[in-house]
Amino acid sequence: MKKVDVENLKKIVGSENATDNPVDLYAYSGDASVHQAMPNVVVRPKTIEQVQKIMRYANKNRIPVIPRGAGTGTSGHAVPIDGGIVMDMKQMNHILEIKPGDVLVRVEPGVVDDDLNRALLPYGFFYPPAPASSRIATIGGEIAANASGVRSVKYGATRDYILGLKVVLADGSLVNLGANTRVHSSGYQLERLIVGSEGTLGIVVEATIRIYPLPKFRCLGVANFNKLEDAGNAISEIITSGCQPSMLELMDGIGIVAVNKALDLGLKEVGAIILFEADGNVKEAVDFEINKMKEICKAHNGFGIELSYDAEERKRIFSGRKKLFAALSRYKEGIICTDLADDMGVPNSKIAEAAAKIHEIAKRNNVIMAVYGHCGSGVIHTKIMLDPKKKDQWKDADKVIEELYDYIHSVGGVTSAEHGIGLSKAPPWKKARADIIPMMRAIKKALDPNNILNPHKLMDAPDDWVKATDLRYRVVK
Ligand SMILES: Cc1cc2nc3c(=O)[nH]c(=O)nc-3n(C[C@H](O)[C@H](O)[C@H](O)COP(=O)(O)OP(=O)(O)OC[C@H]3O[C@@H](n4cnc5c(N)ncnc54)[C@H](O)[C@@H]3O)c2cc1C
Repeated sequence: MKKVDVENLKKIVGSENATDNPVDLYAYSGDASVHQAMPNVVVRPKTIEQVQKIMRYANKNRIPVIPRGAGTGTSGHAVPIDGGIVMDMKQMNHILEIKPGDVLVRVEPGVVDDDLNRALLPYGFFYPPAPASSRIATIGGEIAANASGVRSVKYGATRDYILGLKVVLADGSLVNLGANTRVHSSGYQLERLIVGSEGTLGIVVEATIRIYPLPKFRCLGVANFNKLEDAGNAISEIITSGCQPSMLELMDGIGIVAVNKALDLGLKEVGAIILFEADGNVKEAVDFEINKMKEICKAHNGFGIELSYDAEERKRIFSGRKKLFAALSRYKEGIICTDLADDMGVPNSKIAEAAAKIHEIAKRNNVIMAVYGHCGSGVIHTKIMLDPKKKDQWKDADKVIEELYDYIHSVGGVTSAEHGIGLSKAPPWKKARADIIPMMRAIKKALDPNNILNPHKLMDAPDDWVKATDLRYRVVK
């Protein structure tokens, strides 16, 4: 790869916003995944024009550019495996316009999800797809990953909220995709093509997104289950019963032990917990929904059920689930929680079966795996917990991943329901979706003929990432 001219980049963004200092480069060498690779330069543009100039320079010199939000991607999306320029978008963090009358906002890509929701609160609106990482994840990163979250079971994923996007393409040109209206049928839905493109097709520099009026009432319930399968079956039945949960989350016994250790929550250490929520503007309607879900939980041996309308109490009940990801590394001394095979999607009827299967595969292969997630939307989160220093554990993890994805695909599930493909999930996804890869490559070639935008990710990621990429852990034995 050609040398990156940091002085030229400093002229574009200012000397304080371009760096090749090794300490800075190290800070940008990883994300929330297991992968690591050093960039040559990090730039932090503040304007669309700066993004355009950087892209023109990179395209002319065939230098990889990796757009980056908060770096919370779990599969190596923002890891610069070919080096090049990491473009940190967090300085483009302005909410440009809030238009409640048109139920939309216009934002720069570096706006943090929770900041947007805080700004919408006085208007009585919210932006629903918030992922569990909403405290730091950026709107640009959420668009590029098609993020979804706890409320997606009722309100949908990021793709359902994108009306229009301003995107800088690989050659530095700026395009306006989509519209300001809530629907459009005026040609290819190109704004949707960018959603989930993981930084491989263009740099999102502005987004026009839908917002939603805040419901007047929210009621959260929690139910305990001795058996994980019972909890899974309760979730499937809630979905088919006609109830409209605004949240329907599962947490297994491993997750419960981990959050108790990390947060001292004193949760009952049972086989599984379900969190279920109803919202709306008529209290009687919310009561009806929440009680119906409660009865379904009871019918599946749910017990110790608590319900609360109180905002503080709801926050307390939900805190374990919200902080579960981080808490999992506390499950057992010496192990860490890796983002491997972390967000499968399964059909609604397969939730209980898939949850049990994950535990069974993990046990047989000597690794620990927690099962949790937005199961009401069919999202099953897992984490492979292992001792990262031991080579054998990575091999065991590899076997688990292969077996797990073979199972998930055999029941009609998807490799990633939420976090995206990046590097870690590319091998099983490519195996399962060989049919669409030529079409994706053709689109990539048309928009980025020099392959500079986040190269070697998704369909072009290595087939064996364990061999082909660096891990951010020191494997010693
Ligand atoms: C604790 C934790 C909890 C999580 N919970 C959830 C969850 O509930 N739901 C969920 O969906 N995900 C979740 N995630 C994953 C992650 O937070 C999301 O994928 C999020 O959308 C990433 O946002 P980011 O700003 O960190 O993007 P990054 O990780 O920085 O980047 C993600 C991808 O977006 C691209 N990108 C970033 N900005 C732009 C831009 N402006 N233009 C073009 N491409 C861009 C990058 O190149 C990369 O491919 C979680 C992660 C963690 C660590």
